[in-house]
Order: sequence, then C-alpha cells, then structure tokens
Amino acid sequence: MVVSKRDRLARLLTGLGITRALEFASKKQCLLVLAYHRIGDRATAKYDSALYEATAEAFSEQVQLLQRLYHVVSLAEATELILHPSRLRHRHVLLSFDDGYRDNHDLALPVLKAHGASAVFFLPTSFIGTNRIPWWDQLADLVLRSTREVIHLQYPERLTFYLPGNQRRVIRSLIGVYKSEAMEDPARFWADVANATGVEHRETVEERQFMTWDEARHMVKSGMDIGSHTHSHELLAKQTREQQMWECLESKRIIHQELGLQVDSMAYPVGVASCFNQVSVECLQQTGYRTAFSYVGGANLPEKIRPYSVQRLAVDHMHVDQFRLRKAIFAMGLQPEKSQFGGVSAG
Ligand SMILES: [Zn+2]
Repeated sequence: MVVSKRDRLARLLTGLGITRALEFASKKQCLLVLAYHRIGDRATAKYDSALYEATAEAFSEQVQLLQRLYHVVSLAEATELILHPSRLRHRHVLLSFDDGYRDNHDLALPVLKAHGASAVFFLPTSFIGTNRIPWWDQLADLVLRSTREVIHLQYPERLTFYLPGNQRRVIRSLIGVYKSEAMEDPARFWADVANATGVEHRETVEERQFMTWDEARHMVKSGMDIGSHTHSHELLAKQTREQQMWECLESKRIIHQELGLQVDSMAYPVGVASCFNQVSVECLQQTGYRTAFSYVGGANLPEKIRPYSVQRLAVDHMHVDQFRLRKAIFAMGLQPEKSQFGGVSAG
C-alpha cells in the first residue's frame, strides 16, 4: 500500500501526541513537551517493550518534523517560558526522556546531535551505571523467560493468563496489577509471579541497562540538559514529607557531584496526577527546583501553565489518525497545504 506524504505526516504528529494536544489548544502560543523513554526496536526488546517509543530512524524523522513545524526549545528556554508564560509567542516543543536508559546515550544522542537539537534527560540517580532492571522490566523478564503456557496468580487476586503469543499483553496486565491499589505486599506478589512463571525473580541482569555517569557527562558536553527523576524512582505521593525531601535533595546532590550541574527541574516518577501531591510541590520549592513535569497529557497554554505540574505528551508510535490532525489544524484556522506543511502534496 502506498502511503501518502500527508498520511505519514499525520501519523507522525498523532503518534507524538501532538494531534491530541492541538485539539485542546486552539491558540497559537503553547508549550508542548514530548515524553520519551527508550529508542530502539520493540520487536527485539528483552524487557518491557512498551517503553520504546521509536526506532532511531523514526526518532530522526520525528526530530526533523518537529524542527520544521515548531520551535524546538532547550530546557533553559522552556523554563523561561514556563515561569514567564507571556513570553510564549509560538508553538514551542521540548523533547524529554525519562529513566536514563543506555539507549538514550547510544541511540537518541547521535540523532539529536545530527540535527542540532537538544533534549532534557531526567535521571533517576540510583539507576545510573547499573545493571539493575526496574520493576516493570522485572515483570517483563519473568514473563518472557517463562516456558509455561498458562500462569495462575494467587495474589493480590486469582488471575489466569495464557502466554503463547500473548506475552506483551500479559506484561501490560501485570504492570497494571502492580500499580493497583490492591498491591499492599509487593514481596508476596514477586514470589507469586516467580512461582507462577517458574522463573527466578531477578533485579539485576548481566548487561548494563542504564547510561553511566561518563555517558551522562558526554551528553552534557554535547549540549543536552539533565533533570532529576528522583533518586529511587519510587512514587512521591506514597512517601512521607521527609522521604520526599530526601528524594529531591539526594538526586540533586548526586547530579551536582557527578556532572557539576545544579538541576532545577524534575520529572515525577510515573507522573500521573496521583503520583505527586502538594507535599511534593513544597519539597521541590524548598530544595531549589523551579519546574516539575508530569505525565498528564495536554498542551501547556499561557494562561494555564503550572510550573510544578507541566504537562507532557506520551509519544505513542502506534497511533494513526489523519482526520483528527486535519480537524485540529483547521480548528486553529490554518491551511495545512500552505502555511504549515510547505511542499507536502495532497493525496
Ligand atoms: Zn520513570
């Protein structure tokens, strides 16, 4: 099937979450923040494949597209716009990456450098340079190494999953179970999943998963920005004030020690609205953070920007919907063929 240029463009913008955001943003001044985790091929992922938003080739295409259509800004520029929304003059886009995976350095950085673009990388400082795998990858590891056809879970409720050809969906479901309110005893859950899959539960693997501090220094030298993603990557809202304070300070201290930077920006772990609270905001304010990014989707409009709850768009490479894109663009009074899309031909 032949895919038209316009279809490809629509697919890219929709996949980047921009179409959805523009539907809500009838104004021409806004800050869009894209949230990526990993660059690479989903099909060969050894752990949680859903974190791969794009291959290196697709990411390169996305960066070029964004540079063509929007004002791509650095974290420092975005911070100024967030703190002084009246300075928003265009549709600005900030690229951001969470979690500090090794591919951020190995695959995303070369693409960004090649196009003269920058992004902010939010690092959970306890992950950097380690061979550990976070809980979502641990679940994927158990499911993908299992040779069983059916797994029966007892905790937190009785659940049955059929694995053949269905592993990725089972991983999504188990991640949902782990995040649910019912999850009061994680140790019991891990023992149960290990037992059900017949696979030993492991928190570290042979191969390093996260970038090293040397690689992080290389990124800074290459013009990339660094923010905190806390130290432990535990949900802030579940912690006491003292613990939240420590997460803010410890990640800041380590980044300063390793990179010589005073970070003033954080991305909340997981980042949906229930993952941070007023105490989180107070702790950030008291420890010198000027901005914090959520995982709540939407465009940041001048009259609605909140420095400690900056909205981000989840990049979803699966989504295709030209109609929504056209609607969003026309709703803004733009003519896609002329003003925004340059030489893109119809059909
Ligand atoms: Zn994260």
